[in-house]
Amino acid sequence: MADCVFCRIVAGQIPSTRVHEDELTLAFMDIGQVNPGHVLVAVKSHAESLYALDDAQAAAVQRTVARVARAIRGAFAPAGLSVYQANGKAAGQTVLHYHVHLVPRYDGDGMALVWPVKNPAREELEEHAAKIRGQLL
Ligand code: AMP
Ligand code: ZN
Repeated sequence: MADCVFCRIVAGQIPSTRVHEDELTLAFMDIGQVNPGHVLVAVKSHAESLYALDDAQAAAVQRTVARVARAIRGAFAPAGLSVYQANGKAAGQTVLHYHVHLVPRYDGDGMALVWPVKNPAREELEEHAAKIRGQLL
């Protein structure tokens, strides 16, 4: 897509700092660097979100995520690593081209995700699961 910043990075039309690529994915440094070593893994072919990935893309992304995660661990020895991925503006996605964040983590680094658990009854879990199972292809 001509007006998509990550499509333009894949095509080499704007600068990026590349880490790794294969046929279907590209890993490059996030320009914002929440912590040093913060990498994005994107699909090369434009897909807005997780919903648009085919099985080959989904598998390739996870392979690249795992490979780059090990490389980040080797390079920075972070205390932890967060894998973060947003779909849709309501989820916090700002670049509408599918990508996964790999963020090296340290105690007190200020990165936060509010996680408001509801701890519903088992019956409610069963109802939710049945709805999801009914939609699986
Ligand atoms: P998200 O909010 O999950 O859509 O994340 C988008 C990310 O893309 C942000 O962390 C930005 O720092 C990053 N980003 C935006 N433009 C660029 C760029 N030109 N090169 C590298 N990273 C970028
Ligand atoms: Zn794109």
